[in-house]
Amino acid sequence: MCGIVGYIGNKEAAPILLEGLKKLEYRGYDSAGIAVKIDNSNFIIVKETGRISNLVKLTNNGKNLSGNSGIGHTRWATNGKATLVNAHPHTSSFNEPLNFKECDAKIVGVHNGIIENSAELKQKLEINGYKLYSETDSEVLIKLIDYYFNKYNQDPFLAISKTMLRVKGSYALEIMFKSLPEEIWVARKDSPMVVGINDDESFIASDIPAILKFTKNIYSVDNFEIGKVKKGEVHFYNLNGEELLKETKKIELDSSLVEKSGYEHFMMKEIHEEPSAISEVLKRYTAENEVKFDIDEEFIKQISSITIVGCGSSYNAAKVAQYVIEDIANIPVDVKLSSEFRDHKPILRKNDLVIFLSRSGETSDTLASLRLAKKENIKTIVITNDIKSSLAKEGDFVLDTCAGEEIAVTTTKCFSNDLIVLYLLAIHFAHVRDNLDESNYLNEIRKIPSLIEEILKDQSKIQWLATKLITLKKVFFIGRNTDFAISLEGSLKLKEICYIHSEAFVAGEMRYGSISLLKEGTAVIGVLTQRKILDKTLQNLLECKKYGAYIVGISTNDNDIDKMVDYSCYVPKINDHFEASLICIVLQLLSYYGSVAKGFNADRPIS
Ligand code: GLU
Repeated sequence: MCGIVGYIGNKEAAPILLEGLKKLEYRGYDSAGIAVKIDNSNFIIVKETGRISNLVKLTNNGKNLSGNSGIGHTRWATNGKATLVNAHPHTSSFNEPLNFKECDAKIVGVHNGIIENSAELKQKLEINGYKLYSETDSEVLIKLIDYYFNKYNQDPFLAISKTMLRVKGSYALEIMFKSLPEEIWVARKDSPMVVGINDDESFIASDIPAILKFTKNIYSVDNFEIGKVKKGEVHFYNLNGEELLKETKKIELDSSLVEKSGYEHFMMKEIHEEPSAISEVLKRYTAENEVKFDIDEEFIKQISSITIVGCGSSYNAAKVAQYVIEDIANIPVDVKLSSEFRDHKPILRKNDLVIFLSRSGETSDTLASLRLAKKENIKTIVITNDIKSSLAKEGDFVLDTCAGEEIAVTTTKCFSNDLIVLYLLAIHFAHVRDNLDESNYLNEIRKIPSLIEEILKDQSKIQWLATKLITLKKVFFIGRNTDFAISLEGSLKLKEICYIHSEAFVAGEMRYGSISLLKEGTAVIGVLTQRKILDKTLQNLLECKKYGAYIVGISTNDNDIDKMVDYSCYVPKINDHFEASLICIVLQLLSYYGSVAKGFNADRPIS
């Protein structure tokens, strides 16, 4: 996945291209580049590795290059490393284009996608005298267009359509020809692309938000379509050269795409909302140095044991909380799936507490379980994101998850906020029962929003890992205690939105049978944050390597496991009890990128 943008009109192209690229940065950002056409029809190309902000700086926000048409690209490398020479735009010249140096190539282009038969095509080009300067499949694509352009009388349509018939793979492609200063050509297969027009200017992008600021009249480009984009005008053709009659769609300001605030999916938007959602719930339930819950303190003092009941991710949040509450509040905790709770008569005693978790507050098994507990006269707490729901109406104490609306099918911010509410319960119970000073733990919990921001700032390693995992057959997680509990959530997400077979195992259990499942093509992800037991899990992970598994460690940034595992990621360090809140962001992003890389709609993978 990556992003492309294009502009042709009467304004300076570079600042518009950069603004569009910034909006597309969520699609990939290991390097970026732009090309603008100058008056004599040559090009100025500027590329930079790293984030778009590097390119913005290098070009002085686009002011250092002048021209009224251009194309841009933010790359997520698939073929060739994330280096300057591999960054797009690419050209038909045999030499690498140099930053800010006038380039007189016949063809300059950017490409989003993967050309699967690029090795074979490269050979063919080399036999025909071509020299390639980069390792990318995209340069092969541009050079192939050049080959057909020369072969078919400098006809841009034939050059592109012949290339489309010859390549295998996916592409959203923008091409500028030196000989055609008033046109940008586009083509697409299996990578998204839209074209927007105004009276006297046109815009091209991978996704609508990148150009919505400039125009609301948008064409969506379909597979195997070719477009000739001019100022305020675009002509579409099929592969036979027949012109297609297409209409623009008017994108209204309140359309769902705008609600996604520039993100391609609600899931990504909601992941980015987690820091503010967590701050919100902290504001609701804490004062300066204490937790404020409206729960009868006499009852809290008498609790003999706690059962937490939920389905899916709610169950996984409960599993994390089991360790945290037992450790901090010293109360035994059991966790039950709602369907099991209701289908197997639970043993509940007078001073037991049952906590029910449900995002909607309407989960039928959870509601039936709540009614069962109430029938036994057991005290209940409901934690839900809808305080008007049935569960909320029937629980004795109701705690609002305060996550705001969550539209993606898979939960992200509700899950994170559930964890926070459960942490607060743990320290509040400990305070009421054992006089624990809440402030130390509270200070740690309050760090979570900014530490999540830190993780969100650089997602490149997670994105890379996702693209690796989707090529493997199975992905297992191992961990101990909360590391295991949060692994359950990571594994569920891979199943739910990536359709990858995944399981989470208690690391210490691995050797009692499950290890036989490991072979080449299996990844094992070790979650390694719990200081006291981290070495043991690491040993288990290394054992998995012996069975041929690809091993990944996700740890805290005070550890260095790089040399021991095949791939590593780190999260910031906080109190061990709350690390799951940081690990879960990595696992959510991992599943998001995996889903998108597999071509699913991460918000509704089965739609
Ligand atoms: N396959 C191309 C490359 O590696 C394009 C990748 C992308 O879509 O960013 O350069």
